[in-house]
Amino acid sequence: MKTRLNIEGTFSNRITGGSMCFVNLDAMMDEEQSLTLHEYVYKNSLVNQWCPNYGWSRCSNDHLTCGEIDQCHCGDTNIQHYERVVGYLVKRNDVNQGREIEMLNRVRHQIV
Ligand SMILES: [Zn+2]
Repeated sequence: MKTRLNIEGTFSNRITGGSMCFVNLDAMMDEEQSLTLHEYVYKNSLVNQWCPNYGWSRCSNDHLTCGEIDQCHCGDTNIQHYERVVGYLVKRNDVNQGREIEMLNRVRHQIV
């Protein structure tokens, strides 16, 4: 994560139209984890704006789960996955092949 923040932070102030650094996480943060990560980014990077980014899963019974799962807690395995693309959550099945490959190659940082 540090390398990513360094690279993106280097260019943050040069992008006149604004920028947002989406940090892909594997699970929802609690309040303390969020505060720790905000302090880390603030103290260790030049990134001027950032946002935690989660993948989402929704079963056919409309249960929404943070993260990518293949089976819902209700037992349903008909799961639709959602990812953020340029600020908006979209169904992974609705994107073009290039974007889908990019999504699958995203590094998800572990919340510990
Ligand atoms: Zn469900």
